Order: sequence, then C-alpha cells, then structure tokens
Amino acid sequence: MAVTQSIPILLPVFVVTELLCACNTVQLWSLKKAGVAGTRSWLLANAAMLGYLPALGLRMVLPLIFSVVLSNGLGLVAASMFYIGCARFLGRPSHARPLAVLVLAGVAGLLGFTLLLDSMRVRVVIASGGISIVFAATAWLLFRHRIASHRATVYWLGAACSAVTSLLHLGRAAYYGGGFGNISDLFATTMPNVFSMSLTAALVPGLSMLAVAMVQEYLLRDATWRAEHDGMTGLNTRQCFESRSMALLQQAEGDALPLCLVLMDLDHFKQINDRHGHQAGDQVLLTFSALLCQVMRPGDVTGRMGGEEFALLLPQTSATQALAMAESLRLRAAQVPAVSLGGSIPYSVSMGLAAWQPGMSFSELYRHADQALYAAKKAGRNQVVQAAQPV
Ligand code: GH3
Ligand code: MG
Ligand code: MG
Repeated sequence: MAVTQSIPILLPVFVVTELLCACNTVQLWSLKKAGVAGTRSWLLANAAMLGYLPALGLRMVLPLIFSVVLSNGLGLVAASMFYIGCARFLGRPSHARPLAVLVLAGVAGLLGFTLLLDSMRVRVVIASGGISIVFAATAWLLFRHRIASHRATVYWLGAACSAVTSLLHLGRAAYYGGGFGNISDLFATTMPNVFSMSLTAALVPGLSMLAVAMVQEYLLRDATWRAEHDGMTGLNTRQCFESRSMALLQQAEGDALPLCLVLMDLDHFKQINDRHGHQAGDQVLLTFSALLCQVMRPGDVTGRMGGEEFALLLPQTSATQALAMAESLRLRAAQVPAVSLGGSIPYSVSMGLAAWQPGMSFSELYRHADQALYAAKKAGRNQVVQAAQPV
C-alpha cells in the first residue's frame, strides 16, 4: 500500500525532525528551571511531537486503530500545548478547556471513523482541520498580543510559521477531505506531499526554537533589568545611574544645554529604623522612591545610590527650575508621612543641588552636590542647599 511503502521514503525527513525536536526538548528542559510562564507547556508540546512521528511509523507494524488515533491524537495535543505555552507566556487566557474538548472530540472522531465507519478522508479532515484551527489561533495570538518591549522579529516569525502550518493543514484537509486528491496518495512521495511534509517537518521544530528564543529574550531582559535596578525600590542602581548620567552630561555638552544634579538623603533614618523597626524603615524608603517617581519628568534619571540616599538628574533644567522641583519634593515628603502596619511615620529629606557648567565632569558635579547635601545636613536637615557656582 502507498501509505506503508512511502513512509520509509520520508524517513530521513522524519528522523531530522525527531532529532531537532529532541534538541529543543533538552533546551526547554534546561530553561524550565527559570520558571518562565509557558515553558512547561512548550516542553509538553515537544514531548508530544517526539511521540508523534514514531507513532506515525507504527502504521507499518500496528493496526491502524492504534497508530491513527495515537499519532493524530499526539499531533492535536502538541498543537494545543504549543498554543497554551504561547498564551501563558504572553499572559493571555490559555483556553485549556476548549482545547481539551477539541483534542477529545478529535480523538473520538478518529476512533469512530476508524472503527465504525472506516473513512480516511474524514480522518484527514478531523486531524488536519483540528491542527489548522489551533495554529490559526496561535498565529493570531502571537501577532496580536506580542510583548511590545521585546524584539518584534521573533513574534512575527512565530505568527508567520503558525499561519503557514495552519494553511498547510487546511489545504491538506480541503484537498483530501473535499475529494480533490486520491486518498491513497496521502503519504505518497508526490511533489506536493513531499513539499508540504518537509515544510511541516521544518516548521514544527522551528516553532519550538522560536519559543526558546522568546524565553531567552525574556530572561535576558529580566537579568539586565535586575542588574540595572535596585531590587527594593525599582530605581536605577548607583552604577546604572552614573552611566546614564554621564551619557546625558555628554549630550548636554554637545547641545550646550543646562543640567542639574540633586542628591538626597533621608534625615535621621537610623532613628526611624530604631524606633519603628527595619520593615517600617523599608516602607519609608518605598514611599519616598514612589514620590520621586511621581515628580520626575520623562528624560529625568533617578537612582538609589545606597541605603537611604537617592539621586535625581535633571537634563535641560536650569538651577532655578531644579531648585523649585527639589523644594516641592522636599515639602511633599515632609507633609505626607509614610504608612506602615504600625501607623504613619513622618520623615524628612535633605538635598544638595549642583548645576552643571560646561567642561565639568560627572565626578566634579557629584562632588558639588554632595558638598551641598552635607551643608543641608549641617544647617539642620529637611532643606535644599544649592552648591555655590564654581568660578
Ligand atoms: P542623617 O540624617 O545624618 O543622614 O542620619 P541617618 O541616621 O539617616 O544616617 P546614618 O548614615 O547614620 O544611617 C543610615 C541608616 O540607614 C543606617 C542603615 O541601617 C539604614 N539603612 C540602610 N539601608 C537600609 C535599608 O535598605 N532598609 C532600612 N530599613 N534601613 C536601611
Ligand atoms: Mg546617608
Ligand atoms: Mg540619612
């Protein structure tokens, strides 16, 4: 029969797909520990694919009732798990129930049209039609709900590969199901068959590789964010603040625009910790950093320089404007106490402001602001002091 005779001819294609699926399974397995949403489902999709091709090969040794239901059932499971992986990764509803119904209905249909009414045409429509629907939904999901901050290419490719997979299966279902093709040619090594099967054999591991790429991009961005931001307040770390500030300083030098730096230090913070506890102290830090984020404008840079010390870099801002901003921030901090479980905690902040002058390095600017901050502390705290302009 054409089916069993042609499968060995397509064997090299299947073996390559199987090997690629095995590699992707290992990769997804190693990424599983990172706990990125969707990875487990993609891993299950790969595992189902790993079983799909050998199950197809079982047609040569097992009765159709086993191989047809097993291989096509695994194909439907793989497609559904891939969709669920994408949905979980993108934070969208996974539609696990409708997909489970689709898989069960598909398996029941395959059983029925093997045992009760032996129709290969209907079985092709059920298996390929089901897979086509799931991949059409996957294409739409990746196209519509891609993560805006990530590189778009991987999502476009994922959507395109899913759409092509869907169309290939739709074409197969329509061609054989609609009676256009001779059903005994289903696995024959005709040009369209070899082309569509080879393409599917490349698309299946290709989609998994794109899933791996999505997870890796997510992890890389997450690691970069963690390296650049303070874990508690989410503000830039000292190192990141300094490198961003230096870049803005260079820009100010080139454009001959004003720029100011404000250094801030919470007053008597040790006493706050001693009186209200360390956790309440953390709450004060969070309250002040939230306030800082409220007053900052697009383009401004904030940072937690350490402990209870913060910084605000204000590009394209004159000393007068910076002084007004710093003063309003200081007043708001003094007027609105932090709230912890133990009640409200009043706090205040001292600030040192330095205006950048052409030719001044970042460390010089920082030193001026630091001296002004020291002066604010010395003068009684809860105030803004502007550094004397160097002559
Ligand atoms: P001053 O007004 O002169 O700045 O006095 P101060 O008490 O604020 O300054 P000091 O440097 O003596 O104390 C800073 C305290 O900040 C000591 C340290 O335990 C506390 N601190 C540093 N980081 C954290 C943190 O992440 N959470 C909490 N709760 N406390 C912190
Ligand atoms: Mg301090
Ligand atoms: Mg302090």
